[in-house]
Amino acid sequence: MDIVDLNHGSGFVYGIDTREVSIAQRINVLIDVALVRAHRDQPARDYLGASRLGEPCARRLAYEITHTLPDEGRDIDGAMLRVFEAGHRFEVLSIEWLRAAGFDLRTRRRDGSQFGFTAAGGRLRGHIDGVIVAGPDVGVRWPALFEHKALNAKSWSDLVKRGVRSAKPIYFAQVQIYLAYMELAHALFTAMNKDSQELYHEVVPFDPAAAQALSDKAVEILRAADAAELPPRIAADADFYLCRACEYAKRCWETRP
Ligand code: SF4
Repeated sequence: MDIVDLNHGSGFVYGIDTREVSIAQRINVLIDVALVRAHRDQPARDYLGASRLGEPCARRLAYEITHTLPDEGRDIDGAMLRVFEAGHRFEVLSIEWLRAAGFDLRTRRRDGSQFGFTAAGGRLRGHIDGVIVAGPDVGVRWPALFEHKALNAKSWSDLVKRGVRSAKPIYFAQVQIYLAYMELAHALFTAMNKDSQELYHEVVPFDPAAAQALSDKAVEILRAADAAELPPRIAADADFYLCRACEYAKRCWETRP
């Protein structure tokens, strides 16, 4: 990615002539370029992230783990990276508030590393947000896995109404695989409303059958990746709503079986 010196009026960033756009747009382009550059400088994962196992399409996960390039124009961009980064900052806030309220929430080991696990010879890994080892009597037995998400108001309200399992099956799956490998009986799932900073907390118990199904799914995806095979598509039609949102849609549907 080439970046020009905007102060000297030369020009083009991402193919946009920055002399013809507003100051706000010029600044935002620079921010997003910096974010994307930092993201690209990170080493690529050589493992299947347990947080992704709830993704319904095994083929999409196989593309991810084999570092397949997304369709043109569908790669991660500054807007997405800003959302991810903000989510981390909201998580830090929630952790600070919980600790101030008396919850002994641990997020790092003594050596400073993040809690987590590896399985399948290191090819399946998870990094958890934390563990609450003790806290006030609020009707939750400690220890509990701690998982945090920051959601927009609509998504947050839906979660409050329907609960993690129904409203957020991908997060439910993430919690289940974490509980299995961390050998914990339940999780405290905390979600912040990004618009109002309201907090929602739900206890999610371990579901061994769900965790086993996710573990089996991980094994199957890793096996397919090793064999250079593509798992079946999730739908019979490219117009399926998940395919329309998928960054591999063009590649996927143009690949002959
Ligand atoms: S386009 Fe659909 S079937 Fe193909 S990888 Fe994406 S979600 Fe799966």
